[in-house]
Amino acid sequence: MAKLLEGKPIAERIKEDIKQQIQALNLKPVLASIQVGENPGAEAYVKSQQKTAQNLGIEYQLHKLAQDTTEKALAEFIQKLNSDKFVNGIIVQMPLPLQIDYKRISQFILPEKDVEGMHPANIGKLLFGKAKILPCTPQAVMELLHSINLNLYGKEVAIVGHSEIVGKPLSLLLLDKFATVTVCHIGTSQAGKLEEHVRLAEVLIVAAGKAGLIKGEWIKQDAVVIDVGINRVADKIVGDVEFEEAQKRASYITPVPGGVGPLTVTMLMRNLVEATKLQQ
Ligand code: NDP
Repeated sequence: MAKLLEGKPIAERIKEDIKQQIQALNLKPVLASIQVGENPGAEAYVKSQQKTAQNLGIEYQLHKLAQDTTEKALAEFIQKLNSDKFVNGIIVQMPLPLQIDYKRISQFILPEKDVEGMHPANIGKLLFGKAKILPCTPQAVMELLHSINLNLYGKEVAIVGHSEIVGKPLSLLLLDKFATVTVCHIGTSQAGKLEEHVRLAEVLIVAAGKAGLIKGEWIKQDAVVIDVGINRVADKIVGDVEFEEAQKRASYITPVPGGVGPLTVTMLMRNLVEATKLQQ
């Protein structure tokens, strides 16, 4: 039976370190958060970020813009925050209204204030293994693996999902540890090969946003399973992996909720501290 790999205790340890780093900065870091329009998902993320920021001694400025804000107006707003010397980090909450393209908008945030690590300059540094600010969820996954002292060298790792925010940057972080990385996506599924790759994985990381996509019986004996997915099914939050069946085979498995989630928001705050240091 797999051990539960919970994010909260790891997040608490990292938060203690963040608090000490903030004390050494001699200032209260400011995180500017932009929310365009109303969305229950975004509201939940904002609340969790607000709470974490408050506990760490970070000032969280929430800027709510109207649903019909244009991409140009949002870009101008970001540029104002870029030149505000009291703002150390900027985050644009997802989802955005249809008239705004996140990929274009993320390029307007100054790389040294880009606490999500999604500016092309930061992604470029990630490719060369030189990034100081890394995308939050991939960092959270790496912290979970680190917490069980897993040596990734030569390990068969399968990632399911190739989004810019999770799967792609995570594949680079894992390659840096000399893991053998297979990235699966919709093409893999449509070719009928998802099960084959999952069955080989000694470490399986799933970030597809599809409840029950990964059958428990596909999990390799003693595999480490990190389920990033968040899905609402009949008023319950579940991941992408069939938990009960997977737990019988895996050595470690993250619960959903309570696995990756608590660490992701902590990584955002760690990035803010890094960003503040870069600005100093
Ligand atoms: P995206 O929708 O951007 O990406 C999903 C990825 O999964 C895509 O690469 C997609 O492929 C792939 N995919 C979808 N369906 C299948 C399938 N049937 N077989 C194989 N691959 C498939 O989502 P995100 O990366 O932003 O998020 C993924 C999940 O993780 C969501 O549930 C999200 O809520 C959660 N999440 C959780 C976080 C946390 O802190 N716990 C943080 C961030 C995300 P393609 O593009 O080719 O269709």
